[in-house]
Order: sequence, then C-alpha cells, then structure tokens
Amino acid sequence: MDSKTFKEWGHTVVDWISQYMEGMEAYPVLSQVRPGEIKGKLPGGAPFEPERMERIFDDFKRIIIPGMTHWQHPSFFAYFPANTSGPSILAEFLMAAMGAQCMVWQTSPAATELEEVVMEWLRQMLGLPEGWSGVIQDTASTSTLCALLCARERSTGFAVNRRGFLQGSEKKLIVYTSEEAHSSIEKGVKIAGFGRENIRAVPTDDNFAMIPGELEKSIARDKRSGHLPCCVVATLGTTSSTAMDPLRPIGEICQRFNLWFHVDAAMAGTAAMLPEMKHIMDGIEYADSFVFNPHKWMFTNFDCSAYFCKDADALTSTFEILPEYLKTDLDRQVKNFRDWGVPLGRRFRALKLWFVIRYFGVKGLQEKVRVHIALAKEFESWILQARDFELVAPRTINLVCFRYHPLGNDLSEDKLEALNKSLMDELNRSGKLFLTHTKLRGKFSLRMCIGQTNVSRDHVMRAWDAIKEMAKRLSSP
Ligand SMILES: *Cc1c(COP(=O)(O)O)cnc(C)c1O
Repeated sequence: MDSKTFKEWGHTVVDWISQYMEGMEAYPVLSQVRPGEIKGKLPGGAPFEPERMERIFDDFKRIIIPGMTHWQHPSFFAYFPANTSGPSILAEFLMAAMGAQCMVWQTSPAATELEEVVMEWLRQMLGLPEGWSGVIQDTASTSTLCALLCARERSTGFAVNRRGFLQGSEKKLIVYTSEEAHSSIEKGVKIAGFGRENIRAVPTDDNFAMIPGELEKSIARDKRSGHLPCCVVATLGTTSSTAMDPLRPIGEICQRFNLWFHVDAAMAGTAAMLPEMKHIMDGIEYADSFVFNPHKWMFTNFDCSAYFCKDADALTSTFEILPEYLKTDLDRQVKNFRDWGVPLGRRFRALKLWFVIRYFGVKGLQEKVRVHIALAKEFESWILQARDFELVAPRTINLVCFRYHPLGNDLSEDKLEALNKSLMDELNRSGKLFLTHTKLRGKFSLRMCIGQTNVSRDHVMRAWDAIKEMAKRLSSP
C-alpha cells in the first residue's frame, strides 16, 4: 500500500471510528447473530487475486459489525468491562504502525524503559510496596501462571526447571485458593504441572471471602500428609461477586509456613487508586506477587495486564534463557523483559498506558472509577428498596449481584433460576443492555457491573427501568 492510499484509508477509518463511538448506542449491545451466520457469509478459501480496500472495508461494515458485541457500549454491564478510551486507541494505532517486537532492550530501548517507568507509576498509584518491580503481561491468566511457576521453582530450589515435574513420586506441591477464585488459577495449576487434584478450594464466609482459619487448617492437614504447601492465591474482587479476601491474615499464614503469596486483583486492583479504597490492600506487603488488568477497568485497550513482584530475581531465574543469538553487550546494564514472562516476543503495551495515564491524569482516572462505584451503590439501593428484587451478595465496588424474587408466591430455587434466566435472556435479546449471571451458594444471580468508560447515571437508570419492566412482563400471565 503506497502512502497516498494509506493516508486516504487512514482518514476513512478514523472517520468511521469516530462515528462508531458517537453512534454506539444505536447498536444492540449483544450481537444478535446466530451460530454460523458470519461464517456463512465468508468464502471458505483465501482470495488468490488482490482485493480492493473498498470491498474489504465494505464487508467489514456489512458482515463483521453485526457479529460484534459492543463492549464499549455504555449499557454494557456484563462480565467485567474491557473498556478502552480515545488516548488508548490512538496509542494502539502508533504501536501498530511501528510494529516493534520488544523482546529485549535493544529491540526498542524506549519500549523497555517506558515500561519500567509506567509500571513504577502504577505501583505508586495503587500503593504497592516500594522496591517491587512491574512488567506488563498479556492477561491476568498469564500473570497468575507466572506466579505459580515462580512459586513452584522457589519451593523446590529450581529443581523442576532442571529435572522436570513428577508430582506422583515426590512430595506433592499444593496450591491454595478460595472456592470463589477465578478459573485461571485452575488453568495455571494444570499448565504449571501441579495437577488439579493438588488445588485446595478454601471455604469462604458470608461475604464470599476466603476464611483464613480454614486456609491454615488445610495447610496443616497437607503438611501432616507429607505434602509440600507451595502457594496461596488470594483474590481481591472475585469474578462472581467482587469479594475481597483479607490479605493480612492470609499473608501472615503464608509467612509462617513460607508459602508464595499471589494476589489476583484483575479487576478490583483499579479501585486501589482511590484513597477511600486503600483498605482492600491492607497486608499487601506480605505478598510475593500481584496482578491487575488495566485492560479491564482502566480505559486501556485489551490486552494489558500489570504484574508486580517483590523479588524480580525469582521471576527472572524461573524464566531466564540466554541463547547466543539473543546476547548483547548490554545484558548486564539493562532489563530484558523476555525473561519476565512466558513469550519471547512482546508488544509495546507501555505506550497505551502512558497515553492513558497522562491524558486522564491520576485525578481523572480516580474520578471515573469513583463515579462507577457510586453508580453501583445507587443501583444497589434501588434493589434494596424494590419489593420484588433482592441482593444475592454484598457489594464491595462496582458490581451488584441481584435477582428477581417476586413476593407472595413461594418459588423454589429452580423456578427462581428459570425466571431470572429468562429475564436475563430477554433483556439481552432486546439489545438495550447486556448483563450476565453467576451462581452464589447455588443461587442463580444476575450481575450488573458498572465500569464502562462512558456510562452515565442515565444509562444505569434506563437499565433499571428495563429490568423492572421485563420482570413485570415475565410474571404477568
Ligand atoms: C478477569 C479475571 C481474570 C482473568 O483475566 P484475563 O486477563 O482475561 O486472563 C482473572 N482473575 C479475576 C479475578 C478476573 O476477574
């Protein structure tokens, strides 16, 4: 593509993007296509002859857009957000243009050094202990896998790296997390070779937070059985209900038993930017590693996961490789982030964080997050006041877990589940909003997560009206 054509199409694409952002609310939030519908519109083989940009772009609008769920729609209340923002998108443009592969310092010194700087900014913003180092990973799943691998190596004196893993014949390494932990812990445990049988799902209290006493009992039991307790993964902001595991008592136990302590704060970490939310981090100094995702609730395009660790040597000793073709004279003086995670190749993700943090300022970021939490609190108050709705879990930040529970008729759990499932499906089919569900102690619960970049009180009010109206319609014969 010559530069004249690129420039023309660049303008066309930017115009389209800004119209998309402005006209977002005209789209159904959840894509309304059926399985196979998109594939059915695409040829089964690659075009042999070159095609014109007009046609490619036209097909993008005609075929692809209807198959998109609009995560940036302000009425997106599903899962956790993967929100973005203007400055982040612009930085992604620039990253794409340079197309740098930032595996070692010399492959783009600015990428390495900017990453060091923005991660230090983030460390300060969240109040993580001084001296911790940060590195950007693709996702929280990868970050947690890194923590599990470090835990495995530290507890065995790097023996698994040398000799390989034989969980059957040696002391079994055990990983502890709560019954509410994210599925990425189990996935990491499988990949890192611990084996799923060697995860202990520690029970939770009425707030769905890990019970430290139960953790301690479980560790003691494993020690008596001749196992080697290895790692505890606590969650700040569980995926089902944003429950907060108490870091201090868990950390004290980890210290006493010499266990690796990893904190998964994928979504809730962002809240730690607020002085009034700092309490969730109480005891963080006990942790060995911590992850949160700026790509969830910090207006930075997917993907961007911030991983912090107390002892960077444990990380680099776990991952270090030094093939001849990657050696440089500067290896002693600079950081080579290839040794800080699983992949060799690395995107220049620091650029978008730098754009976002500077554009909003810490103050602007805090204001947005504070507004989201206040809106969730207000939505929670509406649920508490409504006769036919109930909370299913306590709210900690910007997620409300609730269900429709019409008074007067004694509905079984199964009936309540069916009713709430239809409520959710009908709302999502309407295209006006998108929310998802979870189960808490067997109770089917709707999840309303308020964290979209441009969500306003008006969107939350309209969602509540739509929920009430649909609920009424479903229960009238
Ligand atoms: C979303 C989430 C994850 C997984 O995040 P990815 O970046 O998609 O891997 C892990 N833990 C918690 C608590 C989450 O909410």
